Amino acid sequence: MSDSEPPASQALYARARAVTPGGVNSPVRAFRAVGGTPRFIAAGQGCWLTDVDGRRYVDLVCSWGPLIHGHAHPVVVAALAEAAAKGTSFGAPTPGEVELAEELVARTAVEQVRLVNSGTEATMSALRLARGYTGRTTIVKFAGCYHGHVDALLVAAGSGVATLALPDSPGVTGTDTIVLPYNDLAAAQAVFAERGDQIAAVITEAAAGNMGVIAPRPGFNAGLAALCRRYGALFIVDEVMTGFRVGRSGWYGLEPVDADLWTFGKVMGGGLPAAAFGGRAEIMERLAPAGPVYQAGTLSGNPLACAAGLASLRLATPEAYATLDATAATVGKLATGALSAAGVPHRLSTAGNMFSVFFTDAPVTDYLGAQTQDVAAFRAFFHAMLDRGVYLPPSAYEAWFVSTAIDDAALERIAAALPEAAKAAARV
Ligand SMILES: *Cc1c(COP(=O)(O)O)cnc(C)c1O
Repeated sequence: MSDSEPPASQALYARARAVTPGGVNSPVRAFRAVGGTPRFIAAGQGCWLTDVDGRRYVDLVCSWGPLIHGHAHPVVVAALAEAAAKGTSFGAPTPGEVELAEELVARTAVEQVRLVNSGTEATMSALRLARGYTGRTTIVKFAGCYHGHVDALLVAAGSGVATLALPDSPGVTGTDTIVLPYNDLAAAQAVFAERGDQIAAVITEAAAGNMGVIAPRPGFNAGLAALCRRYGALFIVDEVMTGFRVGRSGWYGLEPVDADLWTFGKVMGGGLPAAAFGGRAEIMERLAPAGPVYQAGTLSGNPLACAAGLASLRLATPEAYATLDATAATVGKLATGALSAAGVPHRLSTAGNMFSVFFTDAPVTDYLGAQTQDVAAFRAFFHAMLDRGVYLPPSAYEAWFVSTAIDDAALERIAAALPEAAKAAARV
């Protein structure tokens, strides 16, 4: 743990704990898995974060994925300022919503989208639509995949549920949810053979990123799509993390598997709350007011979120993706180089430009594999990096995220921090 606790963050954390459960508004932020004081952030600029104690960090979290262009990009800030000056919300349709929807449709295989405010809302609404469309209730998901805190999907979930080693959350019944091992197509075939006529939808992360990064095996996503088609279930591909981060068209651009519904979030909001779900028009038009399946939102399609999202997507050119790919590869190589030199068992795991480091010797293809990690080694590594000005996700089960704003100075900071951090992990 850090030998230099941050006094201003500590003071804020104490105040926060008095008025907010656990002191945070989303569990993983609390550093529970790594110990110590979560850093309260005063500002971000490019790839740098400044905390309330005035310490600076290279940001490898990027708000858990959204900020592919880094913090406070001038084009995004200008778009927001322009939008804000015209009013922040109307509860009536606005031009920006049409433009953002057109941008999503142009980049992906969806024909129509509905804008919402968070990834959770997107997957929750997609499930309701799938159930309404098929008249069935059972949902199939994969262990370690995280789809937001939707009741039906919070069973054997990744992200904070994995980080905190929570059992399935109290308050969640999950009775209509079947959980299968990730990357296990045979298990899905067996379930369909038995209960295929009850299954409304299969939902999977396009590439898993919430139990650490685990790429789908070749044929896994396509096999699920084929199973769903055969049994009349809908296939929902969750691209909330992969969408517009791994490429212009998200994971679909790397592996064009036909789903019935897709969910998006994170990058498409440019750092503001915006998300979406979409698919074939014939399915989407079952949504109110075109159809009977109800879904709504007072702030959905919010003008500020649409402005930030559009500005970010328009900056997300082929050159930007080439930079993200190259930077991710460089940081991954630096990390594995340092860990190997220190003799720390580890696996670099990648899916497009998403990556994470598993502190284990064994290959990781599913959640059970991810759980073979040496979490204590990660904890020591994390704090040594933090002390040296590199902000990693405070969990061994989360992806590391780069932005196009990472420059040579940031890479030098990372390269300088890694050898000592790897030694700290080796000492555990
Ligand atoms: C982050 C995430 C979600 C949830 O999005 P929120 O905006 O946090 O509700 C859903 N699915 C995946 C794959 C995610 O990574």
